[in-house]
Amino acid sequence: MTRRVGLIGKPLKRRHSQVMHDAAFDAAGIDARYVLLELEPEAVAPAVAAARAGDEWLGLGVTAPYKRVVAELVDTVEADAATIGAVNNVVKTDDGRLVGINTDAPGFHAGVELAMGRPLAGATVVVAGAGGAAHAVVFACLAGGARRVTIVNRTVSSAVALADRFGAVGEGSTAAAALDDPAFADAVRSADLAVNATTVGMLTPGMTIDIDQLPAAATVFDLVYVPPETALLQAARARGLRAANGAEMLIAQAAIAFERWTGVGGMAGVMRAAVAPLLADPALQA
Ligand code: NAP
Repeated sequence: MTRRVGLIGKPLKRRHSQVMHDAAFDAAGIDARYVLLELEPEAVAPAVAAARAGDEWLGLGVTAPYKRVVAELVDTVEADAATIGAVNNVVKTDDGRLVGINTDAPGFHAGVELAMGRPLAGATVVVAGAGGAAHAVVFACLAGGARRVTIVNRTVSSAVALADRFGAVGEGSTAAAALDDPAFADAVRSADLAVNATTVGMLTPGMTIDIDQLPAAATVFDLVYVPPETALLQAARARGLRAANGAEMLIAQAAIAFERWTGVGGMAGVMRAAVAPLLADPALQA
């Protein structure tokens, strides 16, 4: 029997996850395939129930807009995923129970420490965005020992809610600011790390952080990986700052999920090689 992992979302325009996981199944000698389940909202609960009932299902991937909905449909949600408020993968236990997990947070942690060339511990961070990805980023920064995380967002109330939500995670502090807030400019001027966790640079042109105000030792991390070089990253590199897109986060979170489904670790290299052509060629990314 060919086993399956299904990705639930709508729309599902990208094949990056499918390419990475299928390459890892092949490399590990596991007879399984990663299938795309582009579902209307009313079809999500039946799909989760089918994954619980059918022996062929190893688990699920979950993407927008269903990361919160699926958390309500599984049998248990792991503590970190519950704190973040989003499930991006579902693991099936030996006795058939579905467990919601979040691999975006550890994926970000791995990707950003690679980009920074140092641990998150003690870092001063500014984060643009207050959506699903920003929740995982802020959680990972605080859980990783960041000293202070300042969140800026177009809709300020969402930044305030996010700062309040994670106030008790780790030893660091959180603050929220509007884009034109002088307090945000101050935070940028003393940041070790600036993160773009908005869709700006992918869906809309522009930049969320004033690169010119960052210290020379700062790292810029853009979660966007399509296009591979946003205007933000171009500006950061032009200034000689350390800069990285979201590709390593994507790969790291996939490798963590794969290990949870199969018990096979160490697949990041296989996944990186498999997804490289998609990441490099805009024509293949649609
Ligand atoms: P989301 O929940 O829809 O949140 C979107 C965020 O972008 C919100 O903070 C929103 O602000 C902001 N935004 C949208 N348009 C804007 C504009 N024109 N000006 C300023 N801010 C704007 O999306 P998400 O799931 O968090 O994803 C965010 C980004 O992270 C996406 O580009 C996604 O591809 C990327 N991502 C990457 C990885 C990875 O592994 N590399 C993983 C997850 C996500 P408002 O609150 O004001 O609407």
